[in-house]
Amino acid sequence: VRPTSSGKGGNIRVIVRVRPPSNREQGENFSNVVKIIDDNTMVFDPKEENEPFFYHGVQQRHRDIMKRANKDLQFTFDRVFSHEANNNDVFECTTKELIKTLMNGYNCSVFVYGATGAGKTHTMLGRGDDPGITFQTMTELFKEKDELSQDRHFEIGVTYLEVYNETVQDLLNPGPALELRENGQYGVIVAGIQVHRIDKSEKLFDLLEQGNKNRTQHPTDANAESSRSHAVFQVYLRMKIISTNEIRLAKLSMIDLAGSERGAATGYSGARFTEGANINKSLLALGNCINSLADGQRYVPYRDSKLTRLLKDSLGGNCQTVMIANVSPSSLSYEDTYNTLKYAMRAKNI
Ligand code: ADP
Ligand code: MG
Repeated sequence: VRPTSSGKGGNIRVIVRVRPPSNREQGENFSNVVKIIDDNTMVFDPKEENEPFFYHGVQQRHRDIMKRANKDLQFTFDRVFSHEANNNDVFECTTKELIKTLMNGYNCSVFVYGATGAGKTHTMLGRGDDPGITFQTMTELFKEKDELSQDRHFEIGVTYLEVYNETVQDLLNPGPALELRENGQYGVIVAGIQVHRIDKSEKLFDLLEQGNKNRTQHPTDANAESSRSHAVFQVYLRMKIISTNEIRLAKLSMIDLAGSERGAATGYSGARFTEGANINKSLLALGNCINSLADGQRYVPYRDSKLTRLLKDSLGGNCQTVMIANVSPSSLSYEDTYNTLKYAMRAKNI
């Protein structure tokens, strides 16, 4: 039983993950603006004097260069992870439980949301010694498959695409833009995308890394590694229950969203500005869809962006959704963190 699935569309869980401070954030005169109270509660910009970071056991001087009235806002989420959590901790209490839902034939989706540098790709992809939740979720899926292999026949295919400037591109087989179609049996599909059959997790990490290298990236003033695309990893599950011949289809979508910082804040105009506007369009549409669902509204504006059209069959109804909002703890990212927490709040069941 999930803790706060109180609402009518009680299938959305919202989690916040605070990453460790970077060297730069520790080394300069920035303070910590996130205080974690317990597993569900955090305070943004707490009233008490912002706590300085400790670095090599030495307290850094805090010169109040960012001094302003404290917002002192308390937030409650389904779970709050501190900088001490690793990807396995996050997996155990977010996407692990989705496997059962998939086995029952319902679609699931997982989003990582946040500004560039907040830890989205780290959460999704991770690294060799701390594999991300995509890899861990797939490993769990294969484990479940092996356990059920007496009763079910499985076919598993994966795709990896990006939504960039409102167009869809195959990350595993780069080529022309792809179109979305609706298919009676499979729901929304991407016409012409390469589906990779896979039945164990060994090859998966390479596949993900290869796809990630093909993501559209542009250096911006704000951050040299800024990612302007939404990366969507999808798993198509086809299960045949041997005793009854029943066919169950389910789809898992794991989405590394583009940086949520405002396009305007990166200081570009012209082409880059359009790009920023499109990112905002998809993120805004996603927020509106999730908000409508959380609110129990009948009309959900899926058609407002490419991303929400793609995920139309994976949000709402019996689908389960996990939203992981990633934030930096530092006053350097004050506005981004504040905006991310507000976005995450809006996604919660009311
Ligand atoms: P994003 O994808 O949101 O732009 P990244 O995942 O690339 O952000 O994270 C930015 C930097 O912070 C990377 O160098 C990453 O390795 C590091 N990082 C992020 N989250 C963590 C974490 N939980 N633990 C350790 N390092 C992290
Ligand atoms: Mg990233």
